[in-house]
Amino acid sequence: MHWLCALLLSLGLPMIAPAQTPTVRIGVLGIFHTQHLTLAADPAGELLVSAAGQRIFLRGGSSCSLLHIRSAGASLLLSCGGSEVRATQMRASGRNQQATELVIAVPGKIKRRYFGVLDLKVADGELVPIVTMDRETAVASVVQAETAPGTPLEALKAQAIVSRSYLVAGGGRHSNFDFCDLTHCQFLREPPAADSPAAAAAALTRDLVLTFDEKPVTAMFTRSCSGHTRALAEIGLPQTAYPYFSVLCDVCYKNPVRWTRNVSRDDAALLLRGEMGRLAVDRVLGWNAVPSNNFIAHEQDGKVMLEGTGQGHGLGLCQRGARGMAQHGSDFREILEHYFPNTQLKVLLSVPESEFH
Ligand SMILES: [Zn+2]
Ligand SMILES: [Zn+2]
Repeated sequence: MHWLCALLLSLGLPMIAPAQTPTVRIGVLGIFHTQHLTLAADPAGELLVSAAGQRIFLRGGSSCSLLHIRSAGASLLLSCGGSEVRATQMRASGRNQQATELVIAVPGKIKRRYFGVLDLKVADGELVPIVTMDRETAVASVVQAETAPGTPLEALKAQAIVSRSYLVAGGGRHSNFDFCDLTHCQFLREPPAADSPAAAAAALTRDLVLTFDEKPVTAMFTRSCSGHTRALAEIGLPQTAYPYFSVLCDVCYKNPVRWTRNVSRDDAALLLRGEMGRLAVDRVLGWNAVPSNNFIAHEQDGKVMLEGTGQGHGLGLCQRGARGMAQHGSDFREILEHYFPNTQLKVLLSVPESEFH
């Protein structure tokens, strides 16, 4: 028996089958729909770029310290230090093909640092950067990006488990990679500092996932709810393996986040279709155009005025409620038991299955 299994059994934590791979492929910076990126190594490191059978080393202070990557038709055009390579795809990693620090920029718009291996190709004339990173790096990065500053550690730990469960059980919504870096999947920017609360929350819950019927749950979360969370059917969404339950949320029940919006009659008609309708409206008007699916509508001067409460779809973990529970002394287990009734916490093992039979 593997030592970790022995330790976990001694702690009395149930285990489920190991994941096939501890890495996830995240499509990054897709929101920029860019045809030009730059890539650099960390100042103290170097990158091995492989493309069209050639190897390029990117190193700070050398003649090739910044790689320009452009899409040209269906190809990539890589240029660095006066030389050019045309390829259909490229990979950047550490010297031994390992995950390493990558600095990727959309010139004039954004620069982000990742830890992983970068694969790049062209789809529909746009660059598609995909960073394959350790799943725990992704969990910490999502916790950092998706939580408010000052969130108590127990609420961060609950978020880490929810986000990890989603990374294990979700996926399949994109063809080129597992998850995007937007709220469509989960918001993800850079990995947090090793001594940050987000990194601590990921490390302290390492490999823990929510399960239902012995399988990891594609766990959802919402910024705030309207006083109770939602079941899928309530908001017109199809049933999933985990049905979700409507539970009372004390903080939002006593003091919900209120909002008002004006929308057109056509948009109001679309909103009657539940959460899918709301997402359709937000896709056109902006992500916060209609903050939640919990509202009453009044007609006024040819426009429809919405008065609502809550932020997001209202499913699963209410982040605001979780912060409130943590502030009142609940730990991450109590938070998750409250927002995900009938689930169990289990440990994912990344050791080969043969090691614990
Ligand atoms: Zn996505
Ligand atoms: Zn709530």
